[in-house]
Amino acid sequence: MLNIVLFGPPGAGKGTQSQKIIDDFGLIHLSTGDMLRAERASGSDLGQRVQAIMDAGQLVSDEIVIELIEKRLEANKDANGFIFDGFPRTVPQAEALDALMEQHGTSITCMIQLLVPYEELVQRLVLRGKDSGRADDNEATARKRIDIYTEETSIVGPFYESQGKLNALNGVGSIPEVGQRIADVLAPHVA
Ligand code: AMP
Repeated sequence: MLNIVLFGPPGAGKGTQSQKIIDDFGLIHLSTGDMLRAERASGSDLGQRVQAIMDAGQLVSDEIVIELIEKRLEANKDANGFIFDGFPRTVPQAEALDALMEQHGTSITCMIQLLVPYEELVQRLVLRGKDSGRADDNEATARKRIDIYTEETSIVGPFYESQGKLNALNGVGSIPEVGQRIADVLAPHVA
């Protein structure tokens, strides 16, 4: 199985780059942000509980996102592998993911971290907010979300580095350019 953690701040291009990796390798895309937005759109209890937290750009609890991931892993036992996008965002989430992978007889293959300068991230998020109408992509919340990434989530990089799985890449460039950098990292794992 090919199990990739695609990592980086909001606006780094994780969702965009996921698409090509999914198409190339037939992986299942697990984005906790997408799952939470779907819960909100459906008006579920969970969706209502996370609404204010998401709109403020804060992280929802580890318990909630771990459970969402656990359900998807259970439901896709025959998958070729998974691409984790926006998860894990804390060390307890990363530890839970390792444990879940082990339960499913597999492991994380590698983490790909997309590096993009702060002001470019803000610009990208504000633009995305205008295009998609995502409530958490206004400038103030965009800055808040990037700060939360720096303060609470960036620690997940060293977690995978200590396992020899971290690959940090330049996330600035055209979509195909960044995609090629990712393909170069994945090549040894898919040969
Ligand atoms: P994203 O689309 O990945 O930027 O996620 C949008 C929002 O959903 C985040 O700002 C958080 O409020 C919430 N969220 C998504 N994934 C996670 C996660 N792994 N842990 C905690 N909160 C999350």
